[in-house]
Amino acid sequence: MGTQPRPPVYILLGPPGAGKGTQARLLEERFGLLQLSTGDLLRAAVAAGTAAGRAAGAVMEAGGLVSDAIVIAVLKDRMAAPDTAVGVILDGFPRTAGQAGALDRLLADEGRTVAAAIALEVDDAAMVERIAGRFTCAGCGEGYHDSMKAPAVPGVCDRCGGTAFRRRADDRAETVAARLAAYHAETAPLIAHYERQGMLARVDAMGSIAEIAAALARIVAEPRARGEDPPVAASAEGSAGQGQGGTEGNPREKANG
Ligand code: AMP
Repeated sequence: MGTQPRPPVYILLGPPGAGKGTQARLLEERFGLLQLSTGDLLRAAVAAGTAAGRAAGAVMEAGGLVSDAIVIAVLKDRMAAPDTAVGVILDGFPRTAGQAGALDRLLADEGRTVAAAIALEVDDAAMVERIAGRFTCAGCGEGYHDSMKAPAVPGVCDRCGGTAFRRRADDRAETVAARLAAYHAETAPLIAHYERQGMLARVDAMGSIAEIAAALARIVAEPRARGEDPPVAASAEGSAGQGQGGTEGNPREKANG
């Protein structure tokens, strides 16, 4: 009680194709948080030809995990920027036990902890189909899907009106299998890590984008009821603190200080 406001850090966990990017962007818009995707940061490093990008490019193309040293350095650098002061949603980080430990230490240095780690639960088989159909606007990065979320006007971005779209090179079926394998070997165990810390919430992510977004919004709004420092909701829909439907587990339920 009565402590300095601390920007919350939310983690989205889930295999490739679970909708982490889509949902992180919705939370960003609704709650004024900042989405930080290590995949986006690494793709930018590859495009810029930095040392990190040169080291990461081939691993990413093969669907493997970039080394902890590189990813942690990239993430720490980005977390130090002033625009993270509104609070962040980590999309695609941490992905290994080493990264989770580094994040815990980074936050602990500032007297902070993760506000909630949210596991998006999906069927693996459906992920391959989801990934194969997805594409983004080249201008603003808005995500689309051939069958699940096509632009309202074909060929025109709903968000910015752009007409150029791109598909990721690592969304090919062969690479997706490698990415799913890396998820199960390295990242899925983090669910237990955050469960032990009492910070895990689970969301059934096989529903519609709107249903999943509503479940996530309830979780993000929830710390308000715990006397923490939640972001301020931009919309009253799905009001704060209700915590029902679509979720099990209660972030911080067991956490006590
Ligand atoms: P994403 O956009 O999150 O699907 O990430 C694309 C690719 O970037 C992944 O398949 C990995 O090769 C790499 N990557 C992104 N985030 C991480 C991370 N936290 N640890 C290791 N590799 C990562």
